[in-house]
Amino acid sequence: MPTKISKPGFTPQEHRISVRPSVIAGMAALAIIVFTGVAIWPQNPGANVTLITLGIIGIVYLFVFNFLLVSSPHFRDIYNWFNAIFIAAGLAALTFLTSSQLALYIAVLLILAAITSSIIAEGGPAYLLVILSTALIMVFERGRTVPMRSWVFHISVAIIALITVETIRQLKNLSRDRIRKLETITEFSRQIVSSLETQQVLKLLNTALRNAVEADTYFVGMREGDEMRLELIYDDKQYYENQRVKLEGTLSGWVFENQESLFLPDLRKDVTLPRVRLILVGKHKTSLSWMGVPMRGTGVDGIIVIGSYRPNAFDRADLELLSNLAQHAALALDNAYRHSQVEFQTRLDSLTGVYNHGYFLKLLKQQADQALQDKQPLSLIMLDIDYFKQYNDTYGHLAGDEILTSLCATIKQHIKASDAVGRWGGEEFVISLPNANADQALQIAHRIRSTLSTLAIQNHEKDPIHMPTISQGVAMFPDEATEAIKLIDLADRRLYIAKARGRNQIEPSPDQKQLDKIE
Ligand code: GH3
Ligand code: MG
Ligand code: MG
Repeated sequence: MPTKISKPGFTPQEHRISVRPSVIAGMAALAIIVFTGVAIWPQNPGANVTLITLGIIGIVYLFVFNFLLVSSPHFRDIYNWFNAIFIAAGLAALTFLTSSQLALYIAVLLILAAITSSIIAEGGPAYLLVILSTALIMVFERGRTVPMRSWVFHISVAIIALITVETIRQLKNLSRDRIRKLETITEFSRQIVSSLETQQVLKLLNTALRNAVEADTYFVGMREGDEMRLELIYDDKQYYENQRVKLEGTLSGWVFENQESLFLPDLRKDVTLPRVRLILVGKHKTSLSWMGVPMRGTGVDGIIVIGSYRPNAFDRADLELLSNLAQHAALALDNAYRHSQVEFQTRLDSLTGVYNHGYFLKLLKQQADQALQDKQPLSLIMLDIDYFKQYNDTYGHLAGDEILTSLCATIKQHIKASDAVGRWGGEEFVISLPNANADQALQIAHRIRSTLSTLAIQNHEKDPIHMPTISQGVAMFPDEATEAIKLIDLADRRLYIAKARGRNQIEPSPDQKQLDKIE
């Protein structure tokens, strides 16, 4: 599976900036508590010294923990739990050392500590901080106030603190999700510029979708007439084979037709799109949230669809992300398409449209390897037009060109899609026939020769010009030659034997001569 983008988090710098207001406020609240505590209770010098010491330790601790220790990513998790316990103990000690008149300040301090902790840590330490502090404060309060009122107060403060922690946690998740989406788009667009293959684009798209959306199912659809070819079908943790579906009346069809995004948060509610029915792809489980965006470029007409079994699983940020991915993917698929066109063209001979010398040789080597693997024969025919120079001199070069094209068309008529034909030189062609034995190869050579003899082209005056004859040499792989290039060489030598025999001849493998004679 493609690698996931790392979970986005906040940097120590971002943490320091976010906690600064609550930490400074916390320090101030602590200073007020100490100052007021001393002022209210001047008759107890021992307790005052302890209170002042505790205040100083607290202020220093707040500074060191929130601005220095937080920068250390390795120990941050442990610090956060430790911080929760330390703060709870501190608040309990403050409660113990001060009068109940300061309970409100201590409550403020608790809320500020909860805010700070939930910014820096995940939910756990912040929840512990609130619960433990409240419990300890209540224990250390020494029953100074009417118990019932005091309990209501502390529990209310705890509830406010917990709500604050939860709100901050939700906001953090939301911003994390946005950051992850942005990172996904950035990463996707960075990687996709260098991908020139459709499969590579789909692979990157897959990674992006897995990282950035909470979809149970997704696919990429490519329009083909009134059908859509589905690729990259993912459903309920599984990938499925490509498949085709009729577009008419589907949600995807609507997106193709209107070239607009479609976002259906809850499919249980009536889909009010005209002439639209719902179909199942992948698992037989219906999505309840559905989102489809068009993916259109000059050579691409596609769609990206995501779905979830939950209703209201997606939001506008998902739609934005998907549209963004689709735009980038469309460009990349366009490039891939153009690249494959150009690459295909560079394999072909421009006049006849058959493979050129270089590509044919490469292909023949692959076919030879495959033949060895499959323990199957591979036949090769080398073919040359007889007296073509004369032909050109008599009828002109253009007529000669037309002969070359008709010859190639004739060859293609007699070979299979898995066979290949290449232009080896001026009027010399090679035909490779995987899985064909010598008999079959010879038969094909005969057919080409006899079909050609029935053809004619027309000159300027529309008079028919007969086709020239051809000479051919046949050779077998691996029995007669163990390498592609040697096979060509052998067929070439046999071609010249055929020429020497008077042209319009086929020189087969030695054990085929019998058959040649019978014909
Ligand atoms: P042979 O029977 O011995 O093969 O005689 P030949 O005249 O066919 O052979 P030669 O090698 O002497 O001449 C090949 C000719 O093929 C020369 C050239 O004019 C012609 N030729 C090669 N490429 C093209 C082409 O693209 N178009 C045309 N019209 N003629 C070509
Ligand atoms: Mg020739
Ligand atoms: Mg020649």
